[in-house]
Amino acid sequence: MRISVNGGGPAGLAFAVFAARSGRDDEITVWDRTGAEDTYGFGVVLPPAVVEVFRDADPALADELSGHVADWDRLTVHRHGRSASIGAPRLGAMDRRTLLRVLRRRCAELGVGLVRGAVSPAGDGYDLVVAADGARSVTRGQRAQAFGTTTRQVGVDYIWLGAGRAFDNLTFLIAETPAGPAVAHVYPYGPDRSTFLVEAQGHPAPDELADWFAGPLGGARLLENRSRWSRFKEVRNSTWSSGNVVLVGDAAHTSHYSIGSGTRLALDDAQALAAALCAQPRLADALAAYEAERRPVVEHTQRVGRLSAEWFADLPDAPVDRLMSDLATRGGRLSWRDLTEGRRAVPIGG
Ligand SMILES: Cc1cc2nc3c(=O)[nH]c(=O)nc-3n(C[C@H](O)[C@H](O)[C@H](O)COP(=O)(O)OP(=O)(O)OC[C@H]3O[C@@H](n4cnc5c(N)ncnc54)[C@H](O)[C@@H]3O)c2cc1C
Repeated sequence: MRISVNGGGPAGLAFAVFAARSGRDDEITVWDRTGAEDTYGFGVVLPPAVVEVFRDADPALADELSGHVADWDRLTVHRHGRSASIGAPRLGAMDRRTLLRVLRRRCAELGVGLVRGAVSPAGDGYDLVVAADGARSVTRGQRAQAFGTTTRQVGVDYIWLGAGRAFDNLTFLIAETPAGPAVAHVYPYGPDRSTFLVEAQGHPAPDELADWFAGPLGGARLLENRSRWSRFKEVRNSTWSSGNVVLVGDAAHTSHYSIGSGTRLALDDAQALAAALCAQPRLADALAAYEAERRPVVEHTQRVGRLSAEWFADLPDAPVDRLMSDLATRGGRLSWRDLTEGRRAVPIGG
């Protein structure tokens, strides 16, 4: 099959790796409009258990990714100068740029064509077009009616920043401001780096945010990378394929960032689609099998994401330990007993 992968983010690159590894004789080209190293964001949540799931499909990829994951197994909340902390299921994160670099290298090793700095062509001449061009997918937009695309704004305004120090674990910092509480969602992804995503009213500048969170930052700088204030948009599609075009990752669905699952969903989609193409000789059957497998997981994650977004938008005015238990159980995937008795439920972000 000739396959055009439109978009070289986690979903598109991982699909190309898994498809190239599957033993079929496909000709795969990945198109990405950005140039080298030009990507947004800082660290993305990638639990170590997820990397292990990829081991069967590509042991070399799993080995390399696992060397870059910073992990943690605690959750901490700071408010009013007090903090509370509790054990949580093991999660991890890695630099988004490193993830993409590793995936691109693996694509090159496996003979996948990579075209950078170019928008993807019209799909003519391809047997399959994989729309992996993100939440605002142009490929999807060309058939928006067929896909039944809907979007809606969820939660409050946020800005995605980094911090120049590694926090110990997943940490929520709450600062009281004249416009109401501001929340920083923080987790480490390298020896001296953390993701530092802030939700606040009034779009304050990063310098002002650094003042609000000066205590926990301990002198570390806040870092920007194409950072701007925006409101999260949840994307849904009533079907994920139309003819020979199939949606993966953010092009198919987004779920609120506060449960840290976007990259994982993108990678899982990629693996499921590559496996379905191997298992089903007819393209239409493969695309239907892929959607049947992934849609229930995605819709559940979107529900949890909405609950989480609503919780942050209406932050309870509670003591820090009560806040922590509320926070840990906000999406309904973990109960307080799961946490205090150390049970392994499906974790938030996992
Ligand atoms: C503020 C914020 C915080 C987030 N935090 C987390 C987190 O903590 N953990 C997590 O797992 N996820 C997080 N995510 C989500 C995560 O970034 C996405 O879910 C994930 O990157 C989806 O991968 P993707 O490949 O589907 O899309 P993208 O990563 O968006 O990649 C799409 C690619 O397509 C390219 N492209 C777009 N249009 C074209 C075109 N016409 N032609 C060619 N190329 C094109 C783009 O350049 C891009 O490289 C966050 C997202 C946001 C916005």
